[in-house]
Amino acid sequence: MFGRKKTEETGSVASSDAPAASGGTGTATEPSAVDPAEGLRPLAGSDAEWRERLSPEQYAVLRRSGTERPFSGKYVDTDADGLYRCAACGNPLFDSRTKFHSSSGWPSFTEAVAPDKVELIEDRSHGMVRTEVRCARCHSHLGHLFDDGPREAGGLRFCMNSAALDLEGR
Ligand SMILES: [Zn+2]
Repeated sequence: MFGRKKTEETGSVASSDAPAASGGTGTATEPSAVDPAEGLRPLAGSDAEWRERLSPEQYAVLRRSGTERPFSGKYVDTDADGLYRCAACGNPLFDSRTKFHSSSGWPSFTEAVAPDKVELIEDRSHGMVRTEVRCARCHSHLGHLFDDGPREAGGLRFCMNSAALDLEGR
């Protein structure tokens, strides 16, 4: 189900929605105080560079597809207003307005800021078939996508690791 959805979303994004390509100079006309184009960090050239740049916890989650213990992450109960970026590369991923309390123990969102900001990949590890969510820019692991989210908001639950995210306040 998710595999098919991914294909559709990727297709529509490529043809209709390319905000990064139009600006590029940093002088965006976004009404939001948080400029998604700013805050992007250069990608690391090697695994050793990622290891050096990230904290051990961030590295384990982002570059080794680890999962932090439930209720241990710093953003589980956060209601602050802002933009959640990829902790590895600064890619804007989730708006705080789509965050909800899922009681899962991990920060949960109903959607990404744009479908092309994340990659959805079939994950057959640990004897389960799940949909892995990665940053589309640096391909770091972020968490998993489930279909038990709030129905009124589309029914999806992006179950993320706090260690994979950086909240930029608005
Ligand atoms: Zn990233």
